[in-house]
Amino acid sequence: MIHCIRPFIGADSNMYLLTGDTNILIDTGTGVAQGQLVDAIQSVIGPDGKLDKILLTHCHFDHIGGAPYLESAFGCSVYAGYGDAVAIRNGDHNYTLSHHFGVDIPPIPVEDLRDGDIIDNGEHRLRVIETPGHTMGGVCFYDEISSSLFSGDTVFADGYGRTDFNGGSLESLRKSIRRLSIMRIEGLYPGHGRPVSDGSESIRRALDMVGG
Ligand SMILES: [Zn+2]
Repeated sequence: MIHCIRPFIGADSNMYLLTGDTNILIDTGTGVAQGQLVDAIQSVIGPDGKLDKILLTHCHFDHIGGAPYLESAFGCSVYAGYGDAVAIRNGDHNYTLSHHFGVDIPPIPVEDLRDGDIIDNGEHRLRVIETPGHTMGGVCFYDEISSSLFSGDTVFADGYGRTDFNGGSLESLRKSIRRLSIMRIEGLYPGHGRPVSDGSESIRRALDMVGG
């Protein structure tokens, strides 16, 4: 089941908890409200439940800031697309934008994900899709069971992610969105704003906006 955890503070990304044989969290928000985040997770998986994996859509602080706390609280492993994982492992404030949020991000030990990797928890079968553009190494997660896409800041319900940060590229983003546009996507679960049930329609609109 997909549980949406909405931002606790304005800067947080959306967070999605996917339950099954193992429990997976996609993105962590800033971690500023880390107590509330743990409470929200435990309200779903129970006080003794285990969070097994954290998957990060990309390296920006508003998506990864909660990872160090959750990693020590739950002992879970953390994963990110290999192109962004270096910046996360190094605590690189230029690429993670942590200074932009007034924070020194600690180095986070993350494991690399590559295009086509599968993370399966019995109820969800997530396929990694590399979608550079918003960042160099951003990824989306496509759930082959529910035909849902966890799109990070690549595509939103009504728009697409900025490309003017370090490592961003409009041309790369256009290619990434074009690639998503040929997939059948029902639920779209973006990094910010509301999820929608006709993801393919949002992606078609985003493709128009970036000039096809
Ligand atoms: Zn971002």
